[in-house]
Amino acid sequence: MQGLEISNLTKRFGEALAVSDVSLKIEQGSFVCFLGPSGCGKTTLMRIVAGLEQATEGKVLFDGRDMTRVPTHERNFGMVFQALALFPHLNVADNVGYSFRFRAMDKKQRDERVAELLKLVDLPDMQTRRVDQLSGGQRQRVAIARALAQEPLLFLMDEPLSALDAKLRDHMQVELRQLQRKLKITTIFVTHDQREAMTIADKIVVMAHGKVQQVGSPVDIYRRPVNRFVADFIGQSNLLEVQLLSRTQVQLSDLTVEVETVPAGLKIGQTATLCVRPESTVLTPASRGTPGLLGKVTFVRDLGSTVEIFLNVAGREVLASLPPATWAPMAQESEFRISVAPDSATVLED
Ligand code: ATP
Repeated sequence: MQGLEISNLTKRFGEALAVSDVSLKIEQGSFVCFLGPSGCGKTTLMRIVAGLEQATEGKVLFDGRDMTRVPTHERNFGMVFQALALFPHLNVADNVGYSFRFRAMDKKQRDERVAELLKLVDLPDMQTRRVDQLSGGQRQRVAIARALAQEPLLFLMDEPLSALDAKLRDHMQVELRQLQRKLKITTIFVTHDQREAMTIADKIVVMAHGKVQQVGSPVDIYRRPVNRFVADFIGQSNLLEVQLLSRTQVQLSDLTVEVETVPAGLKIGQTATLCVRPESTVLTPASRGTPGLLGKVTFVRDLGSTVEIFLNVAGREVLASLPPATWAPMAQESEFRISVAPDSATVLED
């Protein structure tokens, strides 16, 4: 296979199981995020791919070649980490062109290549600037240009933007994504920030407790989370108890809800959890007598572009999110029947 293949990878640190039997395929040219909370094993997994850590069991293949025992410096993978290791005593050009020292290149070729790379990361004419005279975002771009200078086969980034303020971070996410599309370098990006992963990834690998929970496109993972962990970790969700009526229908209180499919491991007749995103809820004033969960409004938050309505349903909170124009004519009501928009809810495996 072209690209990266991780097969049955396990890493133990003494008694602690950091990565547990992970298998993954990352296609050539794709941008993949390892996403999960602190301690879920995402950094360890990336460090094994980089060769900075040895796996206890399992293999890493790149373009079909077994890399498991290949030393880091022979893998030709570019790396950018949160704690930047720029050389403070060198200027921008010398940082970017550092790896050229070890290649047969004359000064003119080196200068041209550095200028090209700086243009690519949108830092033209910064060659002679000292790195301690740059902003956080500019330094990050120097680090990216330096990693790109090696023409890496694979680009590995561990929380590279987390030291930046929110606005710059948003901006750099878009820039990174555009740059990756242009260069088509297979990229792995580690983050604990679901919004960041949703913005930049082709594919997200959601991890918890050293295990892969779900792999899919951002939209897939948001719309069709497989379990409670993913539903909770990615975006907001209402987790409601339902009874399974058939492979495509569930009973929610007095309401029948159509679903795409019920996971194969669940049996008809049993109870299960339905994940309903706040924007997939439908509210009808209770006085109209339509079916649905009966909810009492406890709090309304108008965010300008959407309105969030918190409802108490038999002691549990349900969150609805509506466009302001939909909410306005109902704003005086205090009791609603809550139902679900067609084909928008997912039955979870566990
Ligand atoms: P964070 O976002 O906080 O960096 P992470 O998801 O990247 O977390 P890892 O750093 O991969 O998680 O750690 C996974 C588990 O392995 C954690 O429980 C951690 O304490 C443990 N661990 C990581 N490195 C070591 C080590 N060198 N020695 C012992 N345990 C370790």
